[in-house]
Amino acid sequence: ERAVEAELAGRPAATADGVAVKVMVNAGDPAELDAVDPAACDGIGLVRSEFLFHGRRGLPGEDEQFAAYRRLLAWAAGRPVVVRTLDAGGDKPVEGLTRDEANPFLGLRGVRLSLARPEVFRVQVRALLRAAVHGDLLVMAPMVALPAEMAAVRRIFDEEAAALAAAGTAHRTPPLGMMVEVPAAALTLDLFEVDFVSIGSNDLVQYVMAAARDASGLDGLDDAGAPAVQRLIRTVVETAAARGVPVSLCGDAGADAAVLPKLVAAGLRSVSVAPAALGRVKRTLARTRSDGVPAS
Ligand code: PEP
Ligand code: MG
Repeated sequence: ERAVEAELAGRPAATADGVAVKVMVNAGDPAELDAVDPAACDGIGLVRSEFLFHGRRGLPGEDEQFAAYRRLLAWAAGRPVVVRTLDAGGDKPVEGLTRDEANPFLGLRGVRLSLARPEVFRVQVRALLRAAVHGDLLVMAPMVALPAEMAAVRRIFDEEAAALAAAGTAHRTPPLGMMVEVPAAALTLDLFEVDFVSIGSNDLVQYVMAAARDASGLDGLDDAGAPAVQRLIRTVVETAAARGVPVSLCGDAGADAAVLPKLVAAGLRSVSVAPAALGRVKRTLARTRSDGVPAS
């Protein structure tokens, strides 16, 4: 199997019947990328920007964030890099920013917190606008449930871009997308103005199945292959396709050999997975037909 993976590593991923599937990597901590050959993937499909906010006192400033995003773009060497804006809250508390809540998964997390604390969010937005000059940067917001949230994000990008322009600072407005990980967004994707979407199956599963992602003893519920989740994912893929909006998936389901064939059968042609899963995912794809049936 190692030899098969080594042989596939340098080639673009495809199904057994030759349908191309993009395979990108997730970066929770940029150090994870040190062991990855950028040529073995189609870019970074999810940068969990929380890494900038962990294990420190105070919040990271604009220049520090700009430098970190630039390093990721340099690593990708022209390939796309999708940075997710801060997804604090829920299972990702950030000291000094998130507060104690009775139901943190249903509280002020992700884009909700960014919009509630615009002075924090605008620092990240400016760093991203400046970094976008240096590579194929895309930006997406986490935990979006309402079109108004995405519109507010876009307005803040526009305002900060105007401020940078007035100051004569080099910048570019990147494509703005969103994670589809709240059922409300999945069910009404046609109402959103977005340049691309990425399905966050980890959170989508917990919200569809009412099964917290950090709970134990919920066997059978924490399953991206469950019919309810699969129907919703198919709806998202079809709605996105009908509107010409690129769609990917960056949750753990993309690296699950039992689920990936179902995703491909649902029409998904792009996933982003943990670096360690890259070879395995390409191998699974090579042994699966685009209709999800194992190649014999
Ligand atoms: C997800 O929810 O599927 C996802 C990719 O984001 P995270 O696991 O960081 O919440
Ligand atoms: Mg998530």
